[in-house]
Amino acid sequence: MPAEPSASSRADTAAELLRRSLERGRLAHAYLFLGDDLGVLEDAALRLAQTLNCLQPPTLGANGVPVEPCGICLNCRRITSRNHPDVVWVRPEMKSRIISVDQTRGVIDRMNLKTTEAAHKIAIFVAADRMNTSASNAFLKTLEEPPAGSVLILLSVEPDRLLETILSRCQRLSFASGLVRVEESVAGWIGEFAALAQPASPGLMGRYRLLGTLLNTLSQTKETIEEALTAQSPLTKHPDAEPSQRERWEDELTAAVEAEYRRRRAAFLAGLQAWLRDVWLGTLGTETGLAFLPQFGPATAAVARRLSPPEARRNLESWEATQRMLFTNAQEALVLEVGLLRLTL
Ligand SMILES: [Zn+2]
Repeated sequence: MPAEPSASSRADTAAELLRRSLERGRLAHAYLFLGDDLGVLEDAALRLAQTLNCLQPPTLGANGVPVEPCGICLNCRRITSRNHPDVVWVRPEMKSRIISVDQTRGVIDRMNLKTTEAAHKIAIFVAADRMNTSASNAFLKTLEEPPAGSVLILLSVEPDRLLETILSRCQRLSFASGLVRVEESVAGWIGEFAALAQPASPGLMGRYRLLGTLLNTLSQTKETIEEALTAQSPLTKHPDAEPSQRERWEDELTAAVEAEYRRRRAAFLAGLQAWLRDVWLGTLGTETGLAFLPQFGPATAAVARRLSPPEARRNLESWEATQRMLFTNAQEALVLEVGLLRLTL
């Protein structure tokens, strides 16, 4: 397996792609920065805002498009301290964690004002996926007819929550570090799953093999947890304790095993969700380096070629529903079986 890309190297790759497109004089009016760390995305957006509004950019690309900021001019400094009037930051409201239609309209109004100080008016939507439906619709209109001189930058760590019409109208760049939230055992199982799905769309037998790998992995996980927690339990250390005391310890042990198992199971299922998201991003015909799990690139691309974007997106919704079902008292094996049979692969 090739070495895992580090967070910084992948962010550097995205920054380099952006730099090269600016050198060629290609400035999009809307960008979507994807990744798994909003802080990294905010830094990248801040740098682009500086680049476009720098008063003395050290490098210019084709058509006079600036390629990098000086970092020290008045505009660069005001953008760093987040108080440049032509660079607007939009964040989800604290309580609702939503970007509302009022917030969105307010930003659009500001974008429509004549630029007073800077070359470009820039709106940066932090966690753009938090726009609710009416905000998304208001935003979409602006995306279709952007005010002259404006640049919109959307940041998202959950791009599958964005409308496809918004996604497709933005130039997308991935700053995802890959693997950061996927444990080794989870990545191992997803690798197995992706490899099984890669050559051809799995038929019924294939589906049951995929289910088999999942159920095996989960039962091994549960055994490992049971062994580890039993070894730590006072039951093992105090074999002569009172029966009532032992009973209490047994109950505690059972509850602890169950809680830890649910946590681990959620990690496996979330890992598959991340891979399905990569497949979906692949169906949108995105540039290289977009994946959240780059190590499975060939299998991801192979599956993405067989699916339409709506099919791949339905997989995301369906697998999310499967995970929610497990929080109810539904029977695990049945829920997983139905969930896997529902996926289009
Ligand atoms: Zn500057």
